[in-house]
Amino acid sequence: MSKKVIISIIILMSAALIGLSVIQFLWIRKSLALKEKTFDDRIFITLNMAKEKLLENLQEDITILGLEKKISTQDERRREQLEYELKKNKMLSDTNLLENIEISHIEELDNFISKELKINQGIDLTYEYGIYSNRTKSFLIRDGHFVVEFGNSKSSSTIKTQDGLESTPYSLPLFEDVSSNEPGYLKLYFPKRTRYLWQNLIPIVLSSILFTALVLFCFSYTVYIVFKQKKISEIKNDFINNMTHEFKTPIATISLASDSIGNASIIGNPEKIKRFLSIIKAENKRMLNQVEKVLQMAQIDKKEITIKPAKIDINELVENVAENSALKVQSRGGSLEINLLAKYTQIQADQTHLSNIVANLIDNAEKYTKETPHIIVETQDDKDGIKIIVKDNGIGMSKDSQKHIFEKFYRVHTGNLHDVKGFGLGLSYVKAITEAHGGRVFVKSELGKGSTFTVFIPFKPKFS
Ligand code: ADP
Repeated sequence: MSKKVIISIIILMSAALIGLSVIQFLWIRKSLALKEKTFDDRIFITLNMAKEKLLENLQEDITILGLEKKISTQDERRREQLEYELKKNKMLSDTNLLENIEISHIEELDNFISKELKINQGIDLTYEYGIYSNRTKSFLIRDGHFVVEFGNSKSSSTIKTQDGLESTPYSLPLFEDVSSNEPGYLKLYFPKRTRYLWQNLIPIVLSSILFTALVLFCFSYTVYIVFKQKKISEIKNDFINNMTHEFKTPIATISLASDSIGNASIIGNPEKIKRFLSIIKAENKRMLNQVEKVLQMAQIDKKEITIKPAKIDINELVENVAENSALKVQSRGGSLEINLLAKYTQIQADQTHLSNIVANLIDNAEKYTKETPHIIVETQDDKDGIKIIVKDNGIGMSKDSQKHIFEKFYRVHTGNLHDVKGFGLGLSYVKAITEAHGGRVFVKSELGKGSTFTVFIPFKPKFS
C-alpha cells in the first residue's frame, strides 16, 4: 500500500470519526434540551395548579368570613352580598393578602404539590418550595413552615441555604391579576435537577464515548500495524539488496580467479595457481561467514541458539580477537590499542560466541570510522562481572539511532548510499549473545565524535 493511500485512508477515517462524534454530541445535546423543556413545562403546570389551588382556598375562606353574619331579609342579604363582594375584592387586592395564608393552606399546598408532582407529572424528585413576598423581600413560607424572623438577626447561613430556592427559575407570580403591584411568588426548587435530567442520558453518553474510543483504538492500532508492516517490508527489501550486494563481490572475485587459473599463462605456474586458490578460499570463507551470520540470526529468532559455557580467560580472549582484527585497522594507517585492565578474568562463557561478539564490535568500530581509525579495546573489572569496552573515533550516531541499532536488520540510513557493507544483524547478535550470558550491552555515542560499546558479562551467568 502506498503512503498516499494510507494517508488518504487516515484522513477519511479521521473525518468520519470526527463527524460521528459531532453528530453524537449534537444528538445528546438536543435530547437534553428536550428533556429540560418537558421537565420545565411539567413544573410550570404544577406551579400554576398549585397557585390556583391556593387562591381558591383563600377565596373560600374569605367567602366564609363574609357570610358569617347571616341575615334574614332579602334586601339586607343583597346589601350584605354587595358588602361582602367589596370586602372580598378589598382583601384580594390587599398587598398583604399573602399574610392571610394560614397553616391549613400550607398543609393543603404541601400535599397538593407533592401529589401533583409525583402522581400526575411523574416527577419523583426531592424539592423545596416557598412563598416569597416581594414586599418583605423574604420568604413567608418555606417547605411547609412559616419563616420566623427574629428582628434583623437573619443569620447569613439561613440566607445561604435559601439561595437555590431564591434564584430558582421555577417561580410564578401570585395574585398579580388582583394586585399588580408587589406580588408574591410561588417558587419551586429541585436541588437534584441536573442529575435527574442526565440520569437517563448518562448510559447513552458513556456507551457512545466507549464505542468511539474503541473504534479510535482499533483504527490507531490498524494504522500502527500497517506502518510496522511497511517498515518490515522495507527492511526485508534492504536486506535482500544488501545480501545480493555482499555476495556479488566474492562471486565475481571467485569467477575471476577461476578464469585466471584456466588461463594458459597461469596454468603452468604453481605459485600463481596457489595465490588464486587462496583468494578463492578466502572469498569462499567470507561468503560462508555471511551465511553463518544469517543462519545464526535465524537460530536466535527461533531461540535455538545453544550456549556452551566453559571456563575462559576474558583477557586472553579479547587479546586474541583484537590482534586478529588489528591487521585491517593497521592497513588503513590506524591503531588498535588493547588495555587489559581486568584482574578477575576467569568467567564461564561460550568461547566462540563471545569471540564473535568482540570481533563484531571491533569490525563495526573500523567500518564506521571514516578518518584514520583509532580503536581502543579494554577489559575492566566491574561489580559482579567483567566489562569489555570497544571505543572508536568514528562517525558516531544520533540518540534516535542508538535506540534502534540493536534491532534486527536495522541500519542507520545515510541517505540512499550504502557505502558500508552489512546486514544490520551484527549488533542484534551481540545483544542476543550477551543476554544469553545474563549480561547487558550499552552504547554511548555522539555524531561525528565516535562511539563506545560496553558489554557486561556477569561472573555467575544465568544461561538462557
Ligand atoms: P551492520 O554493521 O551489518 O549494518 P550492525 O547490527 O552491526 O549491522 O549495526 C547496525 C547499525 O549500527 C549499523 O548499520 C551502523 O549504522 C550502526 N553502528 C554500529 N556500530 C557503529 C559504530 N561503531 N559507529 C557508528 N555506527 C555504528
